[in-house]
Amino acid sequence: MKRVAILGGGPAGAFAAEQLASAGLQVQLFDEKLAWEKPCGGGLTYKAYHQYPFLIDNSTPKRFVTETVLSAPGAGEACLKLDDPLVIYSRLDLNRMLLERAERAGAQIEKARVREISRRGSGWDLRTSSGTAPADFCIVATGARNPLRDVGTEMRPHDTMSALGYYVPGDQDRIDIHFLPRLEGYIWIFPRCGHLSIGICGKNEPAASLRQRLERFMTERGIAWKGSAFYSHLLPSLDAGSWHNNRVAGEGWMAVGDAAGLVDPLTGEGLYYAIRSADLAARALLAEVGEVAGKLRQYRETLRRDFAGELELGARLAKRFFVGRFLCSAVTARMVQFTRRSPRFSTIVQDLFAGRQPYSSLKCRLLRNLNGSLYDMGMSLGFSRLVPRKVT
Ligand SMILES: Cc1cc2nc3c(=O)[nH]c(=O)nc-3n(C[C@H](O)[C@H](O)[C@H](O)COP(=O)(O)OP(=O)(O)OC[C@H]3O[C@@H](n4cnc5c(N)ncnc54)[C@H](O)[C@@H]3O)c2cc1C
Repeated sequence: MKRVAILGGGPAGAFAAEQLASAGLQVQLFDEKLAWEKPCGGGLTYKAYHQYPFLIDNSTPKRFVTETVLSAPGAGEACLKLDDPLVIYSRLDLNRMLLERAERAGAQIEKARVREISRRGSGWDLRTSSGTAPADFCIVATGARNPLRDVGTEMRPHDTMSALGYYVPGDQDRIDIHFLPRLEGYIWIFPRCGHLSIGICGKNEPAASLRQRLERFMTERGIAWKGSAFYSHLLPSLDAGSWHNNRVAGEGWMAVGDAAGLVDPLTGEGLYYAIRSADLAARALLAEVGEVAGKLRQYRETLRRDFAGELELGARLAKRFFVGRFLCSAVTARMVQFTRRSPRFSTIVQDLFAGRQPYSSLKCRLLRNLNGSLYDMGMSLGFSRLVPRKVT
């Protein structure tokens, strides 16, 4: 295997190209737009830059945000101080940086749309907007709107979320996350370099209805949105049952990033998983396993062990989190109240935000801390006054 074609040059495709070209393979990357402002918050968590320090150690413009405010109707607000900041990029800048790294590593970058891929022997023929190209292997990194039907995740409507919003003039130091009743998603206000990105994502709800919810929210907050640039895109959000047969690799190809459905169904985080899956795909391809079938197996298995199992758990939790009830109120509202009143609970939520708290051990940690969190709640509500003071 010498010539690898990378279909798509977002974070997943660009990072796979860099890894494979650095190892000496002949890599050709095709993207119809190359670096562009893909609709995205552009937020990278601690988990991402801790594992891939180049994501923070660079001269590309970025913002560091150390405060997140969570809110829900009837529950007020809770301020979360982030010990490890969220790093926010413009996607144009982030994509450009990653593509430049791939090019420096030796990948050939081409601005072209891949129209069709077809098998020729054990390899591929690619038909692109600028001609044809042969390849021995394909990495599918065409994102959530992957137009190539036979490769990558088969995304059905219940495996996606709509995500849309506005870029509005303005600035603030914090990120806002707002939950709404019966919404399997949330509203965000992200400060970017030079503007705010205000958006909403939601599952099982038409985009038009999400847009109405967002515009109502912005009007209530006194944020003018008329005339602002509007964006919308798809966000993979695989149902729990869809993870089992998720099509991440097949004869002659591996899918990475959004094209493989690799987004956290609870938070919508996809950038880390795009880069991580590209890394795992490249390692599997470069592994000293003789047969291609063995490399595909290695990719599927490491992906599952590394994080896909966690994302599947996230899918199981998502519905209960967004629309479930706890102590006679919405779970999201209770989370806001607990975060505000209990330092112990707040630390757990902070770890979730940073990607340090896996879903697999979340339940145990919550149960372990339940007494303490309830005690914190009681104290902050003034129950301490009911406890007789010790006479000294
Ligand atoms: C509104 C919104 C907000 C988000 N906010 C965040 C966030 O703050 N943090 C986070 O971690 N994640 C966020 N995400 C998720 C994140 O954007 C994605 O997970 C991430 O972009 C996935 O990277 P990728 O390389 O797999 O796909 P993409 O970034 O979508 O890249 C795919 C590339 O393929 C190219 N392409 C597609 N088809 C073809 C073709 N046929 N031929 C050639 N090129 C093609 C496209 O031009 C594109 O450049 C958000 C998503 C949305 C929609």
